[in-house]
Amino acid sequence: MQRIYLDNNSTTRPAPEVVEAMAPWMHERHANPSSPHPAGEASADAIRVARGQVTSLLGCLPSEVCFTSGASESIATAFASALATAPEGRRKLIVSSVEHSAVKYSAQRAEDEGWNRVVIGVDEEGRLDREQLLCEIDSSCAFVSLILANNETGVLSDLQGVGEACRAAGASLHVDAVQVPGKMVLDVGSLGCDFLSLSAHKLHGPAGVGVLFVRSGQTFRPLIVGGPQEDERRAGTENVAAIVGLGVAAQLAQIRSLDTESLAAMENLRDTLEQRLLASLPDSRANGAGSPRVPNTSNVYLGGLEAAYVLAVVGQEGVDASAGSACNATSTAPSPVLMAMGRDEAQASGSLRFSLSAHTTAQEIDRAGDVVIAAVQALRSL
Ligand code: PLP
Repeated sequence: MQRIYLDNNSTTRPAPEVVEAMAPWMHERHANPSSPHPAGEASADAIRVARGQVTSLLGCLPSEVCFTSGASESIATAFASALATAPEGRRKLIVSSVEHSAVKYSAQRAEDEGWNRVVIGVDEEGRLDREQLLCEIDSSCAFVSLILANNETGVLSDLQGVGEACRAAGASLHVDAVQVPGKMVLDVGSLGCDFLSLSAHKLHGPAGVGVLFVRSGQTFRPLIVGGPQEDERRAGTENVAAIVGLGVAAQLAQIRSLDTESLAAMENLRDTLEQRLLASLPDSRANGAGSPRVPNTSNVYLGGLEAAYVLAVVGQEGVDASAGSACNATSTAPSPVLMAMGRDEAQASGSLRFSLSAHTTAQEIDRAGDVVIAAVQALRSL
């Protein structure tokens, strides 16, 4: 059975170009980029190329790109740096109620250590309470961390003016942009952020490698100390193959994000699936569909059923989807993101996420619709 993979917000399949580009760096071109011989220099050059590719994706300078082991590390580093270098007397940090667990728990840990954590709410469509947000960014605030595209619902945070407000208040801004590359254009200049996190495996690159953008001139304190790698911002011998793969994936994502026709086609497939489920299944609802969203994500409440049961049945029929964040997949707790949007426990644990890729076809969407509708009808009749 050909499986239909609709779980691209959890992880994506590495692109063939990525795998091909990585292979030599795991075979004969294995030298340490810090070694002073030609083979080492070749590894350092490969990292330089990848840095250039990420620079182009983000619209930043090469010196502003720091490679990490993934977005969780990038996020932890941004928090650790911003809090450790915060001016005396500033004890406030701000996050939203719909953050990925990497941000949520970094903020919670900071609160345990004495920081004043302020959580900005969202409305029932997942839209940030901008009034509360802009009001809280004041002279007591050290750090603001906000998700750009929600991993569970695809809802885009309206960050217009937030960077300027942070700058005016003297606070630094981190943006979790993990779910954005390849789905829309990313530009750190217009975001006005000081830090931004990415993860290669969300953009058809390998797992275990990511990016922390650190704006030039930003006071910075590394989380991992030791060697002088990454301009002394992140110690540890570089994973050259993974960084090369990330670079190629970034280049491909940039091309996809500029291809408005393909993005519209992906959105159209997402909407086709969503509308079909809503039309065929009474008591269903698309979470966050009233907000601007990235074009690949649909989160649908299926009315009275535990998502885990539906997922098991559709999985047997060859459709891979998920119920919210992969990081919470082993938990039976209802989605905190959907709860923050005002859903009750039954609604938050009865919602499924379908996340498409640029390679998802109309036939797959057709078949996935058939399978999900049949599964829900069968389970409801029990
Ligand atoms: N932020 C968001 C929005 C995510 O979706 C993820 C991964 O699910 C992360 C951060 C963490 O990324 P990683 O697992 O690569 O550390």
